[in-house]
Amino acid sequence: TVRTRIAPSPTGDPHVGTAYIALFNQCFARQHGGQFILRIEDTDQVRSTAESEQQILDSLRWLGLEWDEGPDVGGPHGPYRQSERSAIYHEHSEQLISKGHAFRCFCSSERLDSLRAEQTANKQTPGYDGHCLTLSEQEVAKRVAAGESHVVRMKVPEIGICQVQDMLRGEIDIPWEQVDMQVLMKADGLPTYHLANVVDDHLMGITHVLRGEEWINSAPKHMLLYQYFGWDMPQLCHMPLLRNPDKSKLSKRKNPTSITFYERMGYLPQAVINYLGRMGWSMPDEREKFSLDEMVAHFDIQRVSLGGPIFDVEKLAWLNGQWIRELSVDQFATAVQTWALNAEYLKPMIPLVQSRVETFSELVPLAGFFMTGQVYPDVSLFEHKKLSPDQVRQALQLLLWKLEATRQWDKDSITASIQQIAELLELKLRDLMPLLFAAITGQASSVSVLDAMAHLGPDLTRFRLRQALE
Ligand code: ATP
Ligand code: GLU
Repeated sequence: TVRTRIAPSPTGDPHVGTAYIALFNQCFARQHGGQFILRIEDTDQVRSTAESEQQILDSLRWLGLEWDEGPDVGGPHGPYRQSERSAIYHEHSEQLISKGHAFRCFCSSERLDSLRAEQTANKQTPGYDGHCLTLSEQEVAKRVAAGESHVVRMKVPEIGICQVQDMLRGEIDIPWEQVDMQVLMKADGLPTYHLANVVDDHLMGITHVLRGEEWINSAPKHMLLYQYFGWDMPQLCHMPLLRNPDKSKLSKRKNPTSITFYERMGYLPQAVINYLGRMGWSMPDEREKFSLDEMVAHFDIQRVSLGGPIFDVEKLAWLNGQWIRELSVDQFATAVQTWALNAEYLKPMIPLVQSRVETFSELVPLAGFFMTGQVYPDVSLFEHKKLSPDQVRQALQLLLWKLEATRQWDKDSITASIQQIAELLELKLRDLMPLLFAAITGQASSVSVLDAMAHLGPDLTRFRLRQALE
């Protein structure tokens, strides 16, 4: 039976790209009467968080996607979280070493850095030079026994061409000399993406891997690993990446990319899924509005077109309007209630507003900015005691750039980022507050704007700073 999977890394906000790939995997599995699995790839211990994992699961479920096996629903091939499978990867890495397909590498990061610098200077493709391949077995055993830090790398052919078969692209030829001796196990004893991904796809019985095209260059490494283990390789299908309207890769600098943003802005999940289904794919009769069930009923992966699909928020809004207009009064009422009375979103807001109102009717003027997309601050709110209009623009731009680069999104991290911009401009944190109140809340004062930014989330905060600069 067909088994597909989505394998998100919980290192940030739930990305529309993840939902797009998940949707196509689910459609492909359902069309063939197979199963769709969700696996969490959290081997990057520094960047992975439980909170991000929860948001990804919640967002995909909000969109109406349903997996048959996963960390939250269980299943016969668990655990479905890679951080709980370390022993499995260790065992498989040892197996590759003993078969002579992988080797221990003791090179220091200084050596690797200078190697890379040298290769770059000589215009060579940077890559590992095989230094530790020549170590004798006794020497390796001695250094391991002495507790010397090392990684495990895979062996790679030096010459020849790797032929990757792709369901949409046919054969892709990649010369082996372009393929690096990939690290499989890091010095901390945890696997890299490549080893964990191949081992899990095999053990979880995955038959078809539909993933973003940014992974094409990893395919030779994966093919080799399947061969080394003596396993059948799943069929590969690399999906075109989503693009900004200017054709560049969809990025949060140009477009909100987080599913939670679209949820907060009041999009209908059916419309978002419908729009994602139109990314590079169309119904046989080209109709624009269709449900997930209709997509499954008519699904054919061969109708994916490889030209980069453009994720255009205005088109999504148009499609959402189509869905909204077809709701009955009751459906509309229910949908608005679900959206507006989302307890998870509302509850953290209450401590910010409770002490400031005497009646509920004051909530909208005080905190309505939590519920809207755009705010419309009066230009006079951007007049500043210490800064000229040009300096105000500069400050807003710096704040936007800084907040685009702020990964951790909580009040302390946001405050630290803004503090850095204040110092750069030789100002105090409080000097920047009026600008933030104006841009974020649309008002001269409101509830704590730092708390508000933390609660609104990165996409909505950046969106409003961008609006203020327009
Ligand atoms: P950004 O440039 O916005 O930082 P990124 O690639 O760093 O993008 P991640 O947060 O690493 O974004 O991506 C999260 C998930 O979203 C990954 O699974 C990635 O494959 C997917 N993804 C990111 N960008 C796209 C895209 N343009 N099209 C499809 N999927 C994408
Ligand atoms: N964890 C990878 C990601 O976040 C999975 C890639 C794949 O599907 O192989 O994109």
